[in-house]
Amino acid sequence: MIFETISTSNHEEVVFCHNKDAGLKAIIAIHNTVLGPALGGTRMWPYASEAEALNDVLRLSRGMTYKAAVSGLNLGGGKAVIWGDPNKDKSEALFRAFGRFVNSLGGRYITAEDVGIDVNDMEYVLRETEYVTGVHQVHGGSGDPSPFTAYGTLQGLMAALQVKFGNEEVGNYSYAVQGVGHVGMEFVKLLRERGAKVFVTDINKDAVQRAVDEFGCEAVALDDIYDVDADVYSPTALGGTINEKTLPRLKCKVICGAANNQLANDQMGVEVAAKGMLYAPDYAVNAGGLMNVSLEIDGYNRERAMRMMRTIYYNLGRIFEISKRDGIPTNQAADRMAEERITAIGKLRLPHLGAPAPASRAAAATDPPSAPGLHAGPVRLAIHS
Ligand code: NAD
Repeated sequence: MIFETISTSNHEEVVFCHNKDAGLKAIIAIHNTVLGPALGGTRMWPYASEAEALNDVLRLSRGMTYKAAVSGLNLGGGKAVIWGDPNKDKSEALFRAFGRFVNSLGGRYITAEDVGIDVNDMEYVLRETEYVTGVHQVHGGSGDPSPFTAYGTLQGLMAALQVKFGNEEVGNYSYAVQGVGHVGMEFVKLLRERGAKVFVTDINKDAVQRAVDEFGCEAVALDDIYDVDADVYSPTALGGTINEKTLPRLKCKVICGAANNQLANDQMGVEVAAKGMLYAPDYAVNAGGLMNVSLEIDGYNRERAMRMMRTIYYNLGRIFEISKRDGIPTNQAADRMAEERITAIGKLRLPHLGAPAPASRAAAATDPPSAPGLHAGPVRLAIHS
């Protein structure tokens, strides 16, 4: 059953991590390393079952492959999930045990934060492995990627507004934002700074209150977010919220948010387009955090990071062009753009050169991979003129 699941999702490697003393149950999934080492965050969530955790990590890691590819990064796709309640089950031992598993992969997988994980947790992971990004600046990291993800989402949003309405003035439109966590709170702040009308919801009542008090958002009940009469629906909590039940209720013209795997399935992309809505593909929109942490591999530079965020605007523009050109929904256009790049680079068959681990924590590079696409460490494609 597990091998069947893994083979259909086309993963290179899936690692089940267990440490009884630390209470660790985690899964690391490496989807594809043709473009580079698999970089993707770790999510901590109280999954209802093992199957649910496995499905989540497989979907998320595949998404990272596509995200890196569409964003022009020299990275592959990977992700990890820790099965546990982030409010109750965190400990130093848990994260250090997890860090040892990450280290055992020798740099084929590089981790970062995702839902339920913060910078402090990653610092425990860092005690066991160099293959961590998104750690605090004092460790040579770039800190929490969430503000960059939010800023990148804004760039993607502007591209979508431009295509849908012929005007990318963010403040001219209204928004229904689902989830005001690390990314969502930054995102509503950016929207409100530009004068937009913003409706918010979240299972965390304190977060909703903060969005109302600090940023002047309007709160709506959890399930009512799908009925809000807003120009843009921004899923910024968990995935799968665009589905057969919710789509008939949505009144928006644009769907653009930071959550991963927003469409419950690929067919939803067809149905969204059929309703005349413009879907800004999630993994292209929310690549800001990945772009930001990816710079840690070369030595972090904030100015370069901010410039990089702007590429999201152009990547989205390219996706919308492909969608129009080929007459396909935008989710398929994004996949096409990503797959074309992976195929093209995968065919190069040039040798990889080793490169050091994240600059400030430099360790000697591991041996170059024995075959193109098989990454033994955080190596980058050599630039051949
Ligand atoms: P977070 O845990 O800080 O925030 C998620 C928020 O969603 C929380 O406030 C939570 O209470 C809320 N939530 C959960 N279920 C909900 C529901 N059913 N209805 C309403 N609210 C609900 O996580 P985050 O880092 O802000 O990430 C948000 C989303 O963006 C995730 O899908 C994540 O994978 C994606 N993402 C995050 C980053 C990043 O840089 N953090 C990068 C790329 C993608």
